[in-house]
Amino acid sequence: MKRIAILGGGPAGAFAAERLASAGLSVQLFDEKLAWEKPCGGGLTYKAYSQYPFLTDNATPKRFVTETVLAAPKAGNVTLQLSDPLLIYSRFDLNRMLLERAERAGAQIEKTHVQEVSRHDSGWRVRTKTGDASADFCIVATGARNSLRNVGTELRAVDAMTALGYYVPGEQARIDIQFLPQLEGYIWIFPRCGHLSVGICGKGEPAGSLRRRLETFMSERGISPAGARFYSHLLPSLDAGSWRENRVEGEGWMAVGDAAGLVDPITGEGLYYALRSADLAARALISEKVNQYRRLLQRDFAFDLEFGARLAKRIFLGRFLFGTVPARMIQFTRRSPRFSAIMQDLFAGRQSYQELKRRLLRNLNGSFYEIAMSLGFSRLVPRKVG
Ligand SMILES: Cc1cc2nc3c(=O)[nH]c(=O)nc-3n(C[C@H](O)[C@H](O)[C@H](O)COP(=O)(O)OP(=O)(O)OC[C@H]3O[C@@H](n4cnc5c(N)ncnc54)[C@H](O)[C@@H]3O)c2cc1C
Repeated sequence: MKRIAILGGGPAGAFAAERLASAGLSVQLFDEKLAWEKPCGGGLTYKAYSQYPFLTDNATPKRFVTETVLAAPKAGNVTLQLSDPLLIYSRFDLNRMLLERAERAGAQIEKTHVQEVSRHDSGWRVRTKTGDASADFCIVATGARNSLRNVGTELRAVDAMTALGYYVPGEQARIDIQFLPQLEGYIWIFPRCGHLSVGICGKGEPAGSLRRRLETFMSERGISPAGARFYSHLLPSLDAGSWRENRVEGEGWMAVGDAAGLVDPITGEGLYYALRSADLAARALISEKVNQYRRLLQRDFAFDLEFGARLAKRIFLGRFLFGTVPARMIQFTRRSPRFSAIMQDLFAGRQSYQELKRRLLRNLNGSFYEIAMSLGFSRLVPRKVG
């Protein structure tokens, strides 16, 4: 029986452990913290929970949010009633649930820091703070701050966003997303069970400057950071050119989740890709086709995320019809049901980036017609085009 060492027990590591142990492999998972409140919004899209229904069918505290308010400078805001709500967990609860599932499936779980992994005969020696272990194969799931050399993706400055924020006591029913001038990123307010996660992510801007932008926003909203717990972390956001060379596998190992850089470079969604990559890695290992892993990832979602990486700057920093793209996005969502439907699908994770451009072009005439009608130009636009 193959002995698999899983390095890191966040969503990616825990889910890989569950899948592999369920298939009868011998699995040992190491995590220095086990269940913890990893800095994260904790939001899961429809794409995630429809593919993995156990995310909704459990007794772990969580909430569904159906209302999202999007805002951008000079565009005001727009409320989107999500037909497929976002599911929000605290990361402590989500991690704990996934680790418990792995343990029930038969994985052996150990709380310790992995210091180093090295090749040993045809297998691995895993050196941990509490002793050595050996394994035939390693799954690298140590997240964005992977300290293990030679395994997992190599994040350069252009391949990551800084993400930081506060857990603020309070309640609200909706999600807020705020775009800001000249920022490749956005601010969010996610309602959790009993508190709010208020945060900002941004690429190419120092953490201090992001924090100032966030605190200005919070003070304008009357949200005090006093007594709120601060968090910050790295969010992989691979540059378009980095996807092809991305180090997701090697001799005797595969990387999953953030340790493989598998995060949507526009929305920052990483939980789904953590689970999905863990699932694909487990399938490759169980069917003894580990050399297929890169191809499985590409076919499943990595090509699309690579395409998204090429769009990211244009979406956050681009201009369209004399305004910023985020401002136009909000105005179009407000006035065009067709455009609003596209936004619904983006929030649900149903809209691929590769198809997005085609769909926008296909709907452009119809969207302009709807906008003109909503502005009261019905006499100037006598009939529907497109
Ligand atoms: C501020 C912020 C907000 C986000 N919001 C969202 C969101 O709302 N929705 C979404 O889908 N994604 C979000 N993400 C992304 C999401 O958090 C990650 O994609 C997700 O956590 C990846 O899971 P993972 O298991 O790969 O890594 P992680 O969750 O980072 O897990 C890695 C694990 O490895 C352990 N570890 C690391 N090194 C070692 C070591 N040497 N020895 C032992 N253990 C080790 C850690 O303790 C940790 O438990 C957000 C990210 C940030 C930073």
